[in-house]
Amino acid sequence: MAKAKEPKETAGKGMEEKTEARLRELFEKMPYPARVLLFTDKEKNEPFNQAARQVLQILRQVSPKVQIEEFDLRGEEARKWNVGSSPALLFDPEHYRIRWLGPPIGEETRTLIIALQMLGYRSAGLSDESRKILKKIDSPRHLKVFVSPTCPYCPQQAVNGFNAAIERPDLISLEIIDIQANPDLARKYGAQSVPQVFADEKLIAMGAQPEELFMSSLEKMEEQRIFIPETDAAEVETDLVIVGGGPAGLTAGIYAARSGLRSVIVEKGILGGQVATTPVVENYPGLTQVGGKALVDIMLEHALQYANIFPGEEVTEIRPGDPFLVLTNRRRFKTRALLLATGARYRNLGAPGEARLSGRGVSYCSTCDGPLFTGKKVIIVGGGNSAVTEALNLKNINVDATLVHRRDGLRAQEHLLKSLKANNIPVLLNTEVQEIRGDQEVREVILTNNKTGERKTVPVNGVFVAIGYDPEVELAKKLGVELTPDGYIKHDGRHRTNVQGIYAAGDVEGGYKQIVIAAGKGSEAALTIFEDLINPYWKKPA
Ligand SMILES: Cc1cc2nc3c(=O)[nH]c(=O)nc-3n(C[C@H](O)[C@H](O)[C@H](O)COP(=O)(O)OP(=O)(O)OC[C@H]3O[C@@H](n4cnc5c(N)ncnc54)[C@H](O)[C@@H]3O)c2cc1C
Repeated sequence: MAKAKEPKETAGKGMEEKTEARLRELFEKMPYPARVLLFTDKEKNEPFNQAARQVLQILRQVSPKVQIEEFDLRGEEARKWNVGSSPALLFDPEHYRIRWLGPPIGEETRTLIIALQMLGYRSAGLSDESRKILKKIDSPRHLKVFVSPTCPYCPQQAVNGFNAAIERPDLISLEIIDIQANPDLARKYGAQSVPQVFADEKLIAMGAQPEELFMSSLEKMEEQRIFIPETDAAEVETDLVIVGGGPAGLTAGIYAARSGLRSVIVEKGILGGQVATTPVVENYPGLTQVGGKALVDIMLEHALQYANIFPGEEVTEIRPGDPFLVLTNRRRFKTRALLLATGARYRNLGAPGEARLSGRGVSYCSTCDGPLFTGKKVIIVGGGNSAVTEALNLKNINVDATLVHRRDGLRAQEHLLKSLKANNIPVLLNTEVQEIRGDQEVREVILTNNKTGERKTVPVNGVFVAIGYDPEVELAKKLGVELTPDGYIKHDGRHRTNVQGIYAAGDVEGGYKQIVIAAGKGSEAALTIFEDLINPYWKKPA
């Protein structure tokens, strides 16, 4: 039997030869060395010290352009730079005021590699718009970006922070704070949901933001949701604009472009949609078990070969006509057809305390926030696949998790229910959350049994809400697209809506919500659009 070839490892543990060669090439081109000082105290956070040391050593072995020096936290150098926590990394402190409290591991290793390149070029890779915004800042700002190694959204904000601090070293200083290595700081700032960004102790952003929105939030010192460029937005002419970069949108991009249509995919949040936050996928054909993020990367790499992808752009307005005009927060598109693959978003519980304590113990993403609750007690509210998946994920990282569901039975798939039982996760049926309580963070929940009326107070540190999704139909409604009684986009069976030139695909159409189904719908919609556009009798929209 042929034996699979082991990937060659070279620079320390865990790096393949190809990756190392690519990194070496990138680092060697840098005109300046990327200098990082690591401060450790073996009495404090030793496992994190070792993790930080290991990742830095691996990168140092790749190229001499990466210069790492380690110092004792109790020594002279630590006093000189006023470093007080372990591990702490200082990035080229002669030029910048950037430090990282904790180890740059997991998702954050990507941030570290990008940061080293910024140091090596002594320059941030910012867009002209972002540069213009940063130029307007005329007083010092100190940024704190809270991250965790398991959070897929965090590198985007951390890189934004580096960009700002490297572009304006005269005024902007930065601390990246790992919440696992610094739970006391996370508690102090109530940063229980990552990423969170503080500027001069004021919360200016929750969640990942496009670069310009991050810079605008920093400039205005409050969270910005829409970025309006000062100059006329650039214009892109295309045959098809796909709104949404989930499995439906990405697949539609591949199929449409392969049919010869110029296609663009516009995504306002994380590429991959809901899949990006799914811990493990076990039912995508051909892949026995794959991480959601890894699956997104595979799809994305494929889609990028065909379609132009515009991440971090929200479609805010669509003006019907010939062509349609599609406006985003960065530019406008002129297109012959439009595919709404806008998916679904999580549903709120509506219990008193939920909104106020959101990000302070109330969470909607166990992959991002789960590690903060290790060794703590939480409830997961819901009874479907999402709720059971979240419960299993939390249990897997040693969270004391209880599932709470208002009906008398769970609606999850059989294999998930089996895992739930095998993992001894308690389930409270016929139980509703009346209130979530706590001052700065979640302290307890009031639960009632809707059969017996029994009411009890349960002390918990967290509440994970997993009660389903609402279709994203705001754009559809504005366009006069007809909806089903359940609020999904109505179509003719071939993804055409009632508005000519506008199509729908994926979760936004209702039905089973699965990756392979969304992908299938995306491909079907693209083929319909192709047929309609090449059909000489196709009536153009008025
Ligand atoms: C926790 C969890 C676990 C799951 N596990 C599985 C599983 O194991 N197997 C499985 O098959 N399925 C699973 N699913 C379901 C699956 O992820 C969804 O069915 C699938 O992602 C739907 O794809 P979609 O492209 O239709 O929508 P989405 O994935 O929701 O993507 C839609 C995208 O459109 C973007 N968008 C919306 N409005 C705009 C706008 N105005 N401008 C720009 N972009 C916009 C959104 O940001 C989003 O990224 C899971 C879902 C969750 C939440």
